[in-house]
Amino acid sequence: MTTPTTTSAPAEPGTAPVRRPYESYVYAYPHKTAYRPLADRPALGELWAGRSKDALALYAHIPFCEVRCGFCNLFTRIGAPDGLTGAYLDALERQARAVRDALAADGADVRFAAAAFGGGTPTFLTAAELSRLCDIAEHTMGADLRAVPLSVEASPATATADRLSVLADRGTTRLSLGVQSFVDAEARSAVRPQKRAEVEAALGRIRDAAIPVLNIDLIYGIDGQSEDTWRASLEAALAWRPEELYLYPLYVRPLTGLGRLPEPLSDAAWDSRRLALYRYGRDLLLDAGYTQVSMRMFRRSGAPESSAGDHACQTDGMVGLGCGARSYTPDLHYSFDYAVDMRQIRTIVDDYVERTGADFARADHGRRMDGDEARRRHLLQSLLQAEGMPVAAYTARFGTGPWDDFPAELAEFAARGWLADDTAAPGALRLTPEGLAHSDAVGPALFSPAVRAAMAAYERK
Ligand code: SF4
Repeated sequence: MTTPTTTSAPAEPGTAPVRRPYESYVYAYPHKTAYRPLADRPALGELWAGRSKDALALYAHIPFCEVRCGFCNLFTRIGAPDGLTGAYLDALERQARAVRDALAADGADVRFAAAAFGGGTPTFLTAAELSRLCDIAEHTMGADLRAVPLSVEASPATATADRLSVLADRGTTRLSLGVQSFVDAEARSAVRPQKRAEVEAALGRIRDAAIPVLNIDLIYGIDGQSEDTWRASLEAALAWRPEELYLYPLYVRPLTGLGRLPEPLSDAAWDSRRLALYRYGRDLLLDAGYTQVSMRMFRRSGAPESSAGDHACQTDGMVGLGCGARSYTPDLHYSFDYAVDMRQIRTIVDDYVERTGADFARADHGRRMDGDEARRRHLLQSLLQAEGMPVAAYTARFGTGPWDDFPAELAEFAARGWLADDTAAPGALRLTPEGLAHSDAVGPALFSPAVRAAMAAYERK
């Protein structure tokens, strides 16, 4: 699915014309495919010296799942043979010690304002291993998990009562469950074999655990999905009154299970089907009393704001632990090597568990951030939120306005009817409902030429 399906307005040199409504989901900018090995392997102590570290975000990545869903290109492997989870937590603890020492090296106050365990499936770990993960976050890193928002991802089969009990006791404020579809045939079609009865039982256990915020992830655009079956999934989710719902368009990506299957639809038919299902789902949730936070995220009215949603890490102070986690300083985003193919992922995980504390004290892979990239990142992450970007905050941070910095991109969005006029959103640069529906085209159009070139040159593995 690479052929453009909409005609593009002529682009200024160095800008990306908008081509398709579903170009890519921008959950972090720049994407890891724009990272490269860092020849100088900078010491973390130097990278973090002099930075403000009193409101950092902590993220721990657990790269294990029971199955590999057909749509998934996240950094995760199937299963963990021979005590690999224990060895992984040993390595994570070594990394935590090295990172904590580096953060504290300049004597500054180090505090965490938010924490998240993601994956993969963090609840692939046993209850005792989850307890150990919380210990590492608390005792080694110094994050007070009971005092800050803590978000954890889970799958239905691994959301067991003993694991949920540990997570609730340790301060989890948000549990996100990847359901994707309540229709068994659709779950099979997305190569995520699970039965609705198992999903319903897991949701019951999560509610019993009394974690304040339940998020349910659903996917639209699955082969065989109709408006009726999409509504059935949405209504089944709503029956649990989740505080949050994420609606994801299905993407078929290279090297994933679905990416290896023949593509049955033309690009245009595929795009228009997903757009129609998006609009249907959005309207149904708005009618049910949910507020739209972004193209993907909806929050029940009156529900607590448990997290920054998908508007994370604007402040460039994120500390990642684990072999797929990113860390962000204002000047450098860094992580470890990245892959989608199973064999390559296994190699990277194996390499991670062998690392010493000294190995963890330096950054390996990453991308330097300059003023232009910081502006793009700020605009991109704010504009994709339903409430838009306060222009004054942008100007206060950068000394320029968004129209000074991105005239061609913003003019194209405006010409397409995707930017709300100023009277609709005083002081904010905001997308219209149609602009929000096209978030996955808006985001990539704001990538810098350098990042786009690095992503294009990346050899998929
Ligand atoms: S979608 Fe979630 S559960 Fe499925 S393979 Fe990816 S990380 Fe694992």
